[in-house]
Amino acid sequence: MTRTQVGIVGAGPAGLVLAHLLAQAGVESVVLERQSRAYIEKRVRAGLLEHGTVRLLKERGLGERMLERSLAHHGTELRFDGQRHRIPYSDLYGGREMRVYAQQELVADLVRLRLAAGGEIVFEAENVELEGIDSEAPLIRYRRGGEAAELRCDFIAGCDGFHGVSRPSIPEGVLTIYNDRLPFGWVGILAAVPPSTTEIIYALHERGFAGHMLRTADVSRFYLQCDPDDDIANWPDDRIWYELRTRLATNDGWTLGEGPIIEKNITEMRSFLVSPMRHGRLYLAGDAAHIVPPTGAKGMNLAIHDAGVLAGAVASWYAGEGDGLLAGYSDTCLRRAWRVQEFSSWMSWMLHRLPEDTPNRAYREQLQRARLEYVTSSPAAGASFAENYVGIEF
Ligand SMILES: Cc1cc2nc3c(=O)[nH]c(=O)nc-3n(C[C@H](O)[C@H](O)[C@H](O)COP(=O)(O)OP(=O)(O)OC[C@H]3O[C@@H](n4cnc5c(N)ncnc54)[C@H](O)[C@@H]3O)c2cc1C
Repeated sequence: MTRTQVGIVGAGPAGLVLAHLLAQAGVESVVLERQSRAYIEKRVRAGLLEHGTVRLLKERGLGERMLERSLAHHGTELRFDGQRHRIPYSDLYGGREMRVYAQQELVADLVRLRLAAGGEIVFEAENVELEGIDSEAPLIRYRRGGEAAELRCDFIAGCDGFHGVSRPSIPEGVLTIYNDRLPFGWVGILAAVPPSTTEIIYALHERGFAGHMLRTADVSRFYLQCDPDDDIANWPDDRIWYELRTRLATNDGWTLGEGPIIEKNITEMRSFLVSPMRHGRLYLAGDAAHIVPPTGAKGMNLAIHDAGVLAGAVASWYAGEGDGLLAGYSDTCLRRAWRVQEFSSWMSWMLHRLPEDTPNRAYREQLQRARLEYVTSSPAAGASFAENYVGIEF
């Protein structure tokens, strides 16, 4: 049996940032990850870092490669009726900027830096089970290369995402679950083509939402609204490019560069949140506790925020300052998570074509248009958008 202070389940952004911040506070941890290192360093997901996330990574010495390889962004574009409307979020929010940096690159950086610092990450840890989470010495059992292994710890951090084992280890009835499936899905593609824009584009068209996100100088990310139960087999490449060209078209002759599609899949859009984000000595962080619709690009940022709060609370406990911060962990994180839920939901409903069976659909479409016109024309509304999009400070 191995012993550590904090057993971290999951080597995503939440678990890895937590391991780093704990080590910097002199707290030991071991990270258990179900997948291989190669797999998590290739898994394509998010790509937009909030101002606060960039600052945290920079201040903690985790952002050197990210700063070298990413570009600062200062605005975004909303398109509707063939018109382009730029929201200069840095100007509207005290000069704060965002950065585009692929999640798998950040995960690779965090893994490399953690291993170089002598940290322990167990990859391909199978059949992870949590025991005694109500006790002062919880236990994690797992298998590695066919061998049974055990990790005894003071605390467990459940950073294993939406489908992990941590949240289901909490006894039934303890958690209040909030769950809302939106009636939209996204066909997400990664294409080997330079971006046709310097800033992220969100477009609402009568055929549905389209998004042009950024990744690198040679690779671009695009999203198209689809039915959440649609099958990716219904989306051959030529249909995808046709829909992107049509939905992103403008009246001023903007053109879309096209190239080979490297990856495509369908993502459903869900709001999910549990309260409290802890039980006994188990603390949930990131997607294990909450999922937001991807429209606002917030999931990874929220996960890293949770990790920062949890690291501070655990370090304070080991420093002999009592359990005040640990007791407040869930409320602190949920306050931000609900703000982000509200913004992501608001943005999703503003930018997607409403399904045919939406009650009072014609009226709701007019509300949607009023929101779009307000946010793109009023400096006050633009500033509120900017504060939420760039990452509200509280
Ligand atoms: C397909 C997809 C696309 C997305 N696109 C965007 C986007 O464009 N913008 C955005 O902001 N967000 C996006 N997200 C959300 C964002 O990626 C997540 O919010 C973010 O990854 C959360 O980080 P995390 O560390 O909490 O969880 P994760 O990144 O999910 O990490 C959890 C880790 O735990 C591991 N794990 C799971 N179960 C176990 C187990 N039983 N034992 C051990 N390890 C386990 C997993 O392998 C994983 O490495 C996307 C998510 C998905 C799934």
